[in-house]
Amino acid sequence: MIMLLSWFLHFSSPSRCLLLKTCDEVDHHREHGEVRVRFAPSPTGFLHLGGLRTALYNYIYAKKYGGSFILRMEDTDQSRLVPGAAESIEDMLEWAGIPPGESPRRGGEYGPYLQSQRLALYTQAADSLVQTGNAYHCFCSQQRLELLKREALRSGQTPRYDNRCRHLRPDQVEEKLDQDVPHVIRFRLESGVEPFNDLVFGWNRHEVAQVEGDPVVIKADGFPTYHLANVVDDHLMKVSHVLRGSEWLISTPKHLLLYRALGWKPPYWEEGPALLTTHCGSGFNSNRVGRKMEELIAEFNPSKITTHSALLDLDKLPEFNKIHLQQRIDDAEQRDWLVRDLQGRIQEVYGTQVQDQDVLRPDYITRVLHLRKGHISSVSDLLSSEYSYLWVRPSFSDQQMAALSSETQHIATLVIRLMEGLRGGEELAVDQLSGELKTLAKKTSNTKYREVMKIIRLALSGLQQVPV
Ligand code: GLU
Repeated sequence: MIMLLSWFLHFSSPSRCLLLKTCDEVDHHREHGEVRVRFAPSPTGFLHLGGLRTALYNYIYAKKYGGSFILRMEDTDQSRLVPGAAESIEDMLEWAGIPPGESPRRGGEYGPYLQSQRLALYTQAADSLVQTGNAYHCFCSQQRLELLKREALRSGQTPRYDNRCRHLRPDQVEEKLDQDVPHVIRFRLESGVEPFNDLVFGWNRHEVAQVEGDPVVIKADGFPTYHLANVVDDHLMKVSHVLRGSEWLISTPKHLLLYRALGWKPPYWEEGPALLTTHCGSGFNSNRVGRKMEELIAEFNPSKITTHSALLDLDKLPEFNKIHLQQRIDDAEQRDWLVRDLQGRIQEVYGTQVQDQDVLRPDYITRVLHLRKGHISSVSDLLSSEYSYLWVRPSFSDQQMAALSSETQHIATLVIRLMEGLRGGEELAVDQLSGELKTLAKKTSNTKYREVMKIIRLALSGLQQVPV
């Protein structure tokens, strides 16, 4: 997992710090342990690389400043829920070694952490917005909204709601509510949005009321939309810093207006560049490959998160994994885990083909790991056919045997004899064995040492070539 972050980092180039005026204030919050950050995925699919990276940055940020990392499931779009996705996302964070401190599964002081279980809180916030005149009931039918959309498109304009229900009189609203006319609640977008300082992108201002119609905050099914639920929860869960992808930068002015209307203090925003398969972020002083989580936390420097985009090179992934695997093999605790994992996998892959149970012994597997580290990128490589000789004896058909040249057969007989002669002693040193084999090659006219080795390899592994 850590390997993934190294991979992201490898392709990002640090640039100038973009922190502006509020730097001191932010540092104060960070240093006083008031940091609460969250990863807020929608379980409309399984965790993708971009989401994992956002979670990872949040985790590192929380650890760096002694804060809390929260997982909140934003499952308000019931029509797009994917069964099992929420559980799987939480499993993935655990697997990746970035477990949340508060989450749907773990609970916490500010729970529940599943938005569908917090509906009363959003209704309450929406009601208060209606009472203060910041939101209103909208009774426009789907047909009318469709018509508006089509008209806009026909005249080459961006479709937007025309805010018609803003102008309903209170008695008209009452009457429609009494008649149970289906409705939504819309937030009144005011102009005069103040600029905000994104800690990565710098000062931003987007006069959202000029380009958008009033957004729905409570849908006809009683569920909130993303904007309202997100703001309510960030406030109630005491989120101090919002670290999310830059695709959300456009939503921030709307959120600011909601905070203002609800009379709440907004968090700090740090919107990292999106990882759209080609983009990634940075945030460290150097791009050293192979850092451990503690090192990443220690070396993390949010002022180095850049707006730069970079191209991810998937081919580098095995290379980075090789480095991390090497570190795991050198770490006693991690190595034991790898050994146990391999024991299970060998049995799974080869089952009854394993004639020699000694290959399952931890000391043997440990030796294999040490000998192949730096060559393999993943432990699964050891289960590929080119390494099968490590676990099962090669077998040769009669045809294969018959196809061997008489010279090969002759050398093989000599090697067997040599081995039998050496058998019974202590374990042979490599030098001693290779000395013996060289002598044997010399004694056999026309045979090169290389040929002898080839035959031995074939006999022991069934392979013509050595694995690289
Ligand atoms: N639920 C949003 C998502 O799916 C969260 C965006 C945010 O972090 O505010 O990414």
